[in-house]
This record gives sequence, C-alpha cells and structure tokens, in this order.
Amino acid sequence: MQVVFLGGASGVGASCLAIELAGQWFVVDAGVRVDKKADPLPDLALLEGKDVRAIFVTHAHADHIGALPLVHQAFPTAPIYASRATGLLMEVMLSDALKIMNKRAMEEMELPLYPEGLVAGMLNHVRPLTIGEGLTFPELPGVTVQASRAGHIAGAVSLGFSASDGSLVVSGDISITPQRTVQGALAPPITRPDLLILESTYGTRLHPNRQAEELRLAQAVAEGIARGGHTLIPCFALGRGQELLLLLQAAQDKGQIPEFPIYVDGLVRRVCSTYLLLPEALSPTLQRQIRKGYTPFTGRTVTFVRDERERERILAGPPACIISSSGMLTGGPSAWYAARLAPQEDASILITGYQDEESPGRRLLDLAEQKKNTLDIGGQTVQVLCHVAKYNLSAHADGGELAAYATALQPKRVALVHGDEEARTALRTRLEGMDVILPGDGMTVEKHGKRASSASRARATTDSAHALDTLPTGIGGGIPFDSMHVEELWRAVATIPTLRIVTGRELALTWYGEATEEDTQRVMEILDEDYEQRYFVRQHALAEAYRVRGQSEETPGDFISDLVGHILLMAVSPGSAKPVLCRAIEPGAAVRVQFPRGISYERTRFPFSAILDVIGPAPQDNYETGSASPIALFLADLVRDARRIRRTLSAHDLARECREEASYTLSEMCMLAGASPQSLEDRLAVAKLMHKHPHIFMQKRPFLEGEGLVLYGLAPSWEEALSEPEEAERPDQHWILSVIEQYLGNPPDLYRRSIDPETGDVTLSFHFPAVASAKYASALDAAAEETGVSITIAPHTHQGILTEVARSLLPAGLTVKGKPSIYVDQQLLQINCAGEATTEEIQQAQAQFMEQTGWYLGIEREQPDKPRSTYWSASAGSAGRKEQNEAISIARKVLAGESGLYKVGADGGTGTLLLRFYFPDAVQGRIEQQLKTVEEKTGWGVRIYPSVHQEELAATARRLLPGDLSIDGSPSLHHDRHAVDVTCSGQASQEELEEAERRFNEVTGWSLNFKVRI
Ligand SMILES: [Zn+2]
Ligand SMILES: [Zn+2]
Repeated sequence: MQVVFLGGASGVGASCLAIELAGQWFVVDAGVRVDKKADPLPDLALLEGKDVRAIFVTHAHADHIGALPLVHQAFPTAPIYASRATGLLMEVMLSDALKIMNKRAMEEMELPLYPEGLVAGMLNHVRPLTIGEGLTFPELPGVTVQASRAGHIAGAVSLGFSASDGSLVVSGDISITPQRTVQGALAPPITRPDLLILESTYGTRLHPNRQAEELRLAQAVAEGIARGGHTLIPCFALGRGQELLLLLQAAQDKGQIPEFPIYVDGLVRRVCSTYLLLPEALSPTLQRQIRKGYTPFTGRTVTFVRDERERERILAGPPACIISSSGMLTGGPSAWYAARLAPQEDASILITGYQDEESPGRRLLDLAEQKKNTLDIGGQTVQVLCHVAKYNLSAHADGGELAAYATALQPKRVALVHGDEEARTALRTRLEGMDVILPGDGMTVEKHGKRASSASRARATTDSAHALDTLPTGIGGGIPFDSMHVEELWRAVATIPTLRIVTGRELALTWYGEATEEDTQRVMEILDEDYEQRYFVRQHALAEAYRVRGQSEETPGDFISDLVGHILLMAVSPGSAKPVLCRAIEPGAAVRVQFPRGISYERTRFPFSAILDVIGPAPQDNYETGSASPIALFLADLVRDARRIRRTLSAHDLARECREEASYTLSEMCMLAGASPQSLEDRLAVAKLMHKHPHIFMQKRPFLEGEGLVLYGLAPSWEEALSEPEEAERPDQHWILSVIEQYLGNPPDLYRRSIDPETGDVTLSFHFPAVASAKYASALDAAAEETGVSITIAPHTHQGILTEVARSLLPAGLTVKGKPSIYVDQQLLQINCAGEATTEEIQQAQAQFMEQTGWYLGIEREQPDKPRSTYWSASAGSAGRKEQNEAISIARKVLAGESGLYKVGADGGTGTLLLRFYFPDAVQGRIEQQLKTVEEKTGWGVRIYPSVHQEELAATARRLLPGDLSIDGSPSLHHDRHAVDVTCSGQASQEELEEAERRFNEVTGWSLNFKVRI
C-alpha cells in the first residue's frame, strides 16, 4: 500500500491523492488552487507510468474536482465514482457553465477553462457511489470501499479503502457540527486503519458556538442595513451560499432581525435548485420540507438576481443584503459588488469563509485591521471606506473535532493534509501519542511491513461488501432512442432502486453506451414529449435532471415539488377551471399560482385538491424572466387558442372513441380527439372539454390520488348523456366581456352589454350607435377576432340622453316648450322653443348635435297664433298593419294628387308612416281625409314631418318675384313666424307685390315680406 500526495497536502487547494492498494492504482480527488500566483494544478506528472483504474471524488468543491478533466484525459477509461449528489453538482458546476461558455461563470466557479469535449467526456464517466455500504468494483479486485457522510456540503463523503495489504481512510473535507443544510460527519467504519489522511483546515483553532456566531452575523447584516447601506456577503456558491440564505431567513422568521430584502447572485441560485433535487443528501429538516414540496431557499424576502441590469437597480435601491459568489472576491458578481460598495462609508462587506493568502477577500480583511484604505479588485483600485468584518461559519471541523475524529478511528498513522503549516502543526500537537506525519506535496507514503497475510485479508474484506450497482450501458443496441423505448429505458434504470434522480447524460449512456452530446439531447427531447412523464419526471430546478418514477425512495411529496414551473388546470371556483402557472409550493398543502392576463381573482393560493391536471411545462424563457406579465400574457394567449380549438371538438365524438372500462391519460385523450398531445393549447382544450362534460367524462384517478398522473374515462352516465343532443360549447361570458374591455375600455357612452349565453355573441348598447360604430369599429373588430364571437352595436339611440344633449346644446336665448319629438327614421329630434336665437347660433347647435349624436336637430320657434304644425294620428298603428313597403306604396297612391310630397318614410318600431312635404303648413288641415284613408288602408299611423323644406321655400320666393325685382343676398327664413323676408332691388307695383305674397302663402303656408330698395 502506498499513497502519493500529488497536491493539497501542505495547503488548501489542488487536493489529489494517488493510492496503490492490492496492487492497483486509483486516484482520490483532483482539484485546483484558486490562488492565481501558485501553480493551479496538482503534480499530475507523478501519475505517469501508473495504471490508474478508477477515480473517487469526495465532494464537488473546486479544490477537489477542478483538475478532474485532466486526470480523465490521461486515463480516459477509468470510471469516476462520486456520490449521487456530488455527481449532479459536478454536472451543474462544469457542464452547464460550458454550455453557455461564459467566461465569467467559469471565473466565478474558480475553475480553469477546459475544452468542452473534455468535460463532457469526463462527466460521461461519472458513476453514482452509494453511501454507507461496503462496495467492490470490477476495476479494483480485492479492494473494498466504504463511503460515509462527511458533513461539509451536500454529497460530501469520506472514503475508507481496505484490502489485504492495508487499509486507509481519506477524510476529505469534514464538518462534525451539524449545519443547516447537512448533518455532521460519520467516519467510515474501518477499525484501526493503517493510515488516516485527515484534513486540517482549521486545525489551529476552536470554532465559536455556531448558533451564537450565526446570530452575530445576522445582527451585523441587520445593523448594516439599519445604517442605510447595502451589506455584501461574498460566499462560495456551493454550501456556504445555502447556509447563509437559511440562517438569515430563519433569523427574520423568528423576529431576531427585521425583514429586509435578500438578493442572491451568481451560481448560488443554481446550486440551491440542485439541492432541492437531493433531499437525501440534506439535513432531516430540509428533507422533510422538500419532500412536502416546499422550497426552503426561496422565502418571501429572497430574490434571485437574473441579470446585470438588476444589479445596478439593487445598488440604487433601498438597503439590502446581497449574497453572492465568489467567496474570496476573486471574480464573479461578488467582486463587482465589492468594488462598488467598498468606497461607501455606510456599506458593509462581511467575510464568512476561508480566504486564500493572496485573495482580495484576505487583503480586504488585512486592510480593515491595518486601516490602509485601497484595494485592487476587479481590475480597479478602490478606496475602502466600508465596514468590514469576519464571521466564522466554517463548514470544516475545528482542531478539537478533528482530534476527536482521529482518536475515534484509532489509526496506526495519521497524515495531516489540506491545511497550512500553522494549522497542521497545531493539530499535530492535539494528536498526542499518535504517529503523525505532515506530508509535503509530491511526497509518497508507503506502508511499512510486507504483503498481507491471509488473516488480514479476511479482516479487510468484510462479508457485507457487495459489488456496486451500476447502470447498464448500451441497452439500445445501436438503435436511435425513440418514444417507444422510454419504458424499456425506465426498466433498465429502475434496476437500481436507490437511483431517484438521473441526468439526461446518464440516460443517454444507458441507451447508447458511449453517449455524445447529441445523443443526450435526443434522449431529453424524446422524454420531454411525454407530457405525463409516466417514467421520467423532468425537474424544473435542473433541466437535465429527471426523477425516476416508482423508485423505492420516491415519496408522496415528490410529484408535488415537480409542479413548480408547470401550467396547471385549476378548479378556481365550482364549475370553473382555469389554466394557471404554478409559481411555488406553500405551507398548508397549497400552491401559489399566476393567472392569465385579464382574469383576476383575489386568491393566488389554492389547495392541492383544486388541481385538476397538469397541462405541461411553461416555456422556460417566459418563466425565467421572472416578472409576472410575460407569463400572464402567454397564459391569456393559451386560453384564447385553446378556446378556438375546443370549438372544433365534440365531446360526443370523443366519448365514442373511448372504450367503456379503459383509463386514458390526457395525452391519450388528445390523440383520441385528434389533437396534439404535445401542444399546450390542444391539451388545455381537451382537458377543459372533459371538465365541461361531467356526465360524459370523469377522472378515474384524480391528481392527488394518481400522484400527479391523472387518468380519465367515461362517466357512468355517458350513454344517457350521449342520447341527448350535444350542446354547443357554452361560451365564457366573463372572459369575452373582459376581452372587450381590454380593447374598448369603459367608455361612458356604453350603457349596456348583452351576451347570448348560447353563442357568446355580444350586443353593445351605446347612447348613439351611429357615432359609436364609427368611433369603435377597429377596436370591436379586434375584440371579435380575439374572442371568436360576433360583436354588434344595438341600433337604438338612447332617447333620454339624446334629449339631454339637445337641451344642453340649445342656444342660450331659447327655452324648450313641451316635449321634443323624435323621428327615428329621419334621425331627427325636433324641439319647440320660445325665445330668440340667431341663425348662426342655431346652425352651430345643429352641427354640434350631429357630431355628438349623429342626429339632426330641428328647432321650431313657437307661435301661439298658428296652428300646430304637426299632424298627429289618432291611432298609432295596429296589429293588422300592412307590410312596410306596401304601406308606403299605398300612401303614395292615396296622396298622388298632392304636390309637394317628396318622401314617404316608415318607423317600423312605432308603426308610423312619416310624410315629408316641401311645405307642411300648406297641406295642414287640407289633406286630413287622405291621411285617414291611408291609415285605414295600411293599418299604420301617419304623421307629417313638421319642418319646411328650406331650399324649396327660398326657390319658391324667387320664382314668385314680380316685375323686374331681383333679390339681394339670400332670403331670410324666420321659423318662429313662418315667414320669409326678402330684400329686393328693382321695380314692382304694390299690386304685384301683394299678389306675390298671396301666392306664396297659398303654396307654402308661409308669409312673404318684401323690402324693396329704390
Ligand atoms: Zn470543500
Ligand atoms: Zn477542500
């Protein structure tokens, strides 16, 4: 047995061990140093000539995995064993950043840039390592491996190796004290190992009481915010970020500190999402919460920062706490914030973790002590005026805990690594009586003593050890993966009952053997097509991860936490179902939802029992923008499209496609209905169709009972229901009216909205339909287009408002006498007035009236000595009246001898014929007999339109001018006196003038007055 310390022995960073046991080499960890001045890599040259069979990873921090791609490059067939959580976190930290190829993200992760293919190839070789059992591996015959929980961060393990020629324990990074995210470490169960390789990061000190230190930090943040400045806490994305979020939220919840906004920036957020997929790797409290569907990292006061513009807004906004990577201010958003906050006197930067000697974070702490005041950070030199302090929230065991750990294991020898000289020396003094060595980087430690005896072999290889279950690979036999293979793939994966979460990459490996990125992509695309996700459930938190259905570790809560980011059909009130976006799971078995635009409910929180079905995942772009409106718009479009599709579907036809006893998923129902099971609008249309026909369809297995997979079938009463004629889809009146309101607003002249409950067709009543139809034509067209119903304007004018408008426009000198008369077919309102007004005033009133109402305004000046100019019929219509055109034609015939009749109109509403004469005064009283005849023959009432034809009146005056008179200007018409005044030039005798006046009165019923200029 021998161990080569390739790196990470005499300091923190670039941890890497090469171990030879039972005659075979394997590697534990391969990290990088963050300190840019030192060589970032372990001494990989020491691996030359060694046949490395396998690689083990303790946890996903950069100082343990950063150089893995290079080790993989050197030993491309060696499998890489890591706990499930570590494998997934490595995927997140490495492959995702590579996908976006974002240099900034890489800096933030404090990892060097590798060629993309190298990382992908490496990740293809990661195999899940189960924790807590003795395992054997085909690559390492004779070696038993035991992985045990190391605390520190999610997924971190300590590793015990035993073989006939020796045994050793590699602690990795450990924390003994439980943290908020993870429990404390348990040493691998190997008694008296030959060698313990123990981390010593904090070997020199004893940690303060954790709870007290957490409270001290929370209060420092609160004080900083109370001073009016922002508080930045730089932290590692993985581990520390999650701890900080939980401790600050807990202090706020308990009322120990006030509520203030907490912003989370950098990779912290993605790591939070990944943690949610890994409840088994977390503390019991978090496990319980996540399995119930809560998301503990996203509390009320927490906001995840999405882009750089938001950063500027945060700094410009009210005081807030910012949690951001990187931890040592070497890059990432924390360096950006620090450069801006350092020169502000009321700002604070609180350091909570390990700082490398040369890191800006360490220099900041030094500055705070030495009162120097400039710092080079993010490529600039800034004045440091802000408040700086350090808090000890270590994820590493302290000297006392490390000593106790070593004592419990009783190793024959201890090698102290992962600590500076001071820390290791201090820890050595605590390990009194033990054989302690402080290896240097590049050093080899060999077990003294010869080949193992058969006795020690029996001890080393425990009876309980068994071969590690590994995923089968290449089950597809070279056939491209397709939707019909999903079940087969699931069966293969389900052979490992502990595998609850798999990645697209792992599934591709299982199917294809050696998987390319394209293969992985293809597998993921095929899986995404299965909206019910019968076998693999897509995880919103991490796009490349799937939950394997039916696994032993599956818990009832799993399908609930899957809902976030999905569009649900929600029973929002009895009989009413709406598509909503599930934004979060809330305490009390409830979801918080987002409604489509245009639909508002006071509630946004609904119990799980209100969920009818899952329509499908919301489009990622929309959801990721975070603000409510894009997704609300998307949902509104979805509602409209689904409604259009639903009108083309028949519940009866769909029922006839179903077999009586069978159960169908929504996808299958879509296919039976001829709709697409992959289109959100089709799925919504079919789901709503079934929901609206409860006598035909039922949920055979509802959402909760089916653990998220709803099954539909025919309702017991389906045959009976089908014997009734199919009712047309009843329109959603509320929605139609809300769409109209979107386009039209609430105009004051719209006084009634009627909707046909069968067709959804809408009739809008405006005060003045003629004006409204011109004004709102395009808005109503658009609303009709969107709703798919016809929208018409009722033809009737609001007569009360019409009269009001007329009165309001009347010239000041006039007062209304009696009730105005309304002639609908002429669009005329006639008012009798007393008083005086000029022609201009009257014309102006008439023009305004036309503009506002679309009607003519007739103003008649009352003359007490004249008979009323309107003929009112005695009987206004009767049941036996003739058809309108026939009635008009009868009236024309009866009145054929009367000159001056130029129009016969009809008001069907009141059953009245309206006769227009050029000169109504002239026929008044003279044609009563004819009018009675018309009434008798037609059954219609008859009225004479009271206004004189003004042009004809003036023309008649001209025509009757005697002698050589000519009119100066225009004749002036006096409606009040029914008189025409003309001013003339020329010669005429008095007799001629009198004769002309007499003739004029005879023809028109009006009087004519001459003023002759001599
Ligand atoms: Zn670590
Ligand atoms: Zn470490």
